[in-house]
Amino acid sequence: MSIITEVIESTKAIIQGMGVTLSYIPKRKLTVQYPDEPVTMQPRYRGQHLLHVDELGREKCVACYLCAAACPSECIYIVAADDPRPPEERIGVDERYAAVYNIDYGRCIFCGYCVEACPKDAITHGYNFELSVYSRADLLKTKDDLLITKQLQSKNYRVALSHEDVDSEYKEV
Ligand code: SF4
Ligand code: SF4
Repeated sequence: MSIITEVIESTKAIIQGMGVTLSYIPKRKLTVQYPDEPVTMQPRYRGQHLLHVDELGREKCVACYLCAAACPSECIYIVAADDPRPPEERIGVDERYAAVYNIDYGRCIFCGYCVEACPKDAITHGYNFELSVYSRADLLKTKDDLLITKQLQSKNYRVALSHEDVDSEYKEV
């Protein structure tokens, strides 16, 4: 290929590329200016786990270890304990409860198997996605970080409504 042909082909390619770039300039911008603007989460998003309580505020987890057994990453650590007090004074809904419930988010792959395995609906995925930390050790979350009554929630998101098109993660809010 001669130099002149190369110059012509290159120029055509640049013009084609610039044409694509310029055609997008007048279009609606889809970029979300996170964290200044909230992002829209899809309803089925699997964020940081939530440990649930009943209407009396008692922890639903009965420390049966089924979630830990189902976890492929082996990142759930539970220590069971007994609470022999009357039901209305107990920490949990049953005599047996989780004195320790840790999830290591350095290992969790957000597969949801723990949620599916739980017979008490005690654990679900929440929408909290801001899990970045400066130290790997801080990725270990304890029961206080996971309990729905104590977990600090991000204010930088909203959940898409059921009638919304949730195919795009980059919806304007
Ligand atoms: S989401 Fe998956 S990897 Fe994470 S704790 Fe649950 S079972 Fe384990
Ligand atoms: S969260 Fe559910 S599956 Fe896991 S120990 Fe508690 S009750 Fe059992």
